Amino acid sequence: MCGIFGVSAPRMSSVLEDLYLGLYALQHRGQESAGIAWLDGKGNLELQKGMGLVHACLNQEELAKERTKCAIGHVRYSTAGESNIINAQPLHATYSKGQIAVAHNGNITNARALKRDLESRGAIFQSTTDTEVILHLMAHEQSLSPIDALVKSLSKLRGAFSIIAIIEGRLVAARDPWGFRPLVIGKRDDVYYVASESCALDIVNADFVRDVAPGEIVIIEEGKLESLNMPVKAERHFRCSFEYVYLARPDSVIDDKSVYDVRFKLGQRLACTCPCSEGELVLGMPDSGTIGALGYASKSKLPFEMAVVKNRYVGRTFIQPTQRVRSLGVQIKLNPIKGLIKGKSIVVVDDSIVRGTTSKMAVKFLRDAGAMRVHLRIASPPVKFPCLYGIDTPTSSDLAAAKMDVEALRDYVGADSLCFLDVSDLVCSVGLPEEELCTACFSGLYLKE
Ligand code: SF4
Repeated sequence: MCGIFGVSAPRMSSVLEDLYLGLYALQHRGQESAGIAWLDGKGNLELQKGMGLVHACLNQEELAKERTKCAIGHVRYSTAGESNIINAQPLHATYSKGQIAVAHNGNITNARALKRDLESRGAIFQSTTDTEVILHLMAHEQSLSPIDALVKSLSKLRGAFSIIAIIEGRLVAARDPWGFRPLVIGKRDDVYYVASESCALDIVNADFVRDVAPGEIVIIEEGKLESLNMPVKAERHFRCSFEYVYLARPDSVIDDKSVYDVRFKLGQRLACTCPCSEGELVLGMPDSGTIGALGYASKSKLPFEMAVVKNRYVGRTFIQPTQRVRSLGVQIKLNPIKGLIKGKSIVVVDDSIVRGTTSKMAVKFLRDAGAMRVHLRIASPPVKFPCLYGIDTPTSSDLAAAKMDVEALRDYVGADSLCFLDVSDLVCSVGLPEEELCTACFSGLYLKE
């Protein structure tokens, strides 16, 4: 999963700080590297990128002084290609038709085959990202204009790709024909923005204009927006349902559906399909289980408490140098409030179970904190299949629900009861037709190659 953000102003403006803020709002989508590319006053591409969080790799003060008409940015979480500065985006290239910078969110499922073919025709790749395939495909279309070369190149791709690019000085955004990853357009006065999630438009005070449609290519220049369609007919759409369950921020709206509302409805539905007669208190595993827990509590009429507190300063890169720290595991991040749960039969709502190790540790620390009974309720179906479209879920052999049935999983995590939603509950809660949504990690129904 990655985050992308782009801006196009009709005249040279101080919009790079907007880009910085937009990427900051998308930090949850990738913490390994961050980068931005922009056009300087002479029409040349400038780049700033590095490893780590946005504030560590980008110089806000310097960016605030720069002026540009067009810029793109990226935060990376690697699912294809290793975590290395070579793979940090945006990628840029100069070819016979000019300069290009591109940033991408998603996994291109036929990237390996395309790469083999391009290499057999002399292409030399500098990175191991899927994204570079797009640049090489474009470079092989010498007879076409850069925009036509992009359209033709994107038409050869399968899988998930929301991209933003600077091509011929214009901001270009595109969403794959299946609509896997979100992409939205915003506007403030005569400045256009494109972002992975609408929460990034809020931070720059831009109004939400609309989602980029699946299969659409948007070209923005001088305050004008032009729309093209990729010449690929998708039999159905595959908008990622896991964005609503866990990935996206709850203050985002994706394809007209509020992520907060969907999570609340998932919790309400869970209360209907998985009631808990002896539950005395509902709590959510922070942060992504909290809204589901609120929904569960409202429907079941049980009290809700923020009974587990999250230390917000423990990042993904937290190092575990000693056995003592390693054995604390999830407790480094999450701490229960003993006084709220001691002696009680508690209903714990979490967004999903992937490997099962976090749930196991959570049940243990809740029991250690005095909970009498721990009933685990999961506001999504069991994750049984790997994601091929840009989310770093493990292979089936590491997915707890692929190896165990619900009873065996309950026993493994040590809960008194365990209950999941089913796929139809998820689809109903999102509120989009089933043939609009990807549920492959739950159902195994992948896009046919
Ligand atoms: S497989 Fe799951 S995580 Fe991947 S795109 Fe589909 S719904 Fe999203």
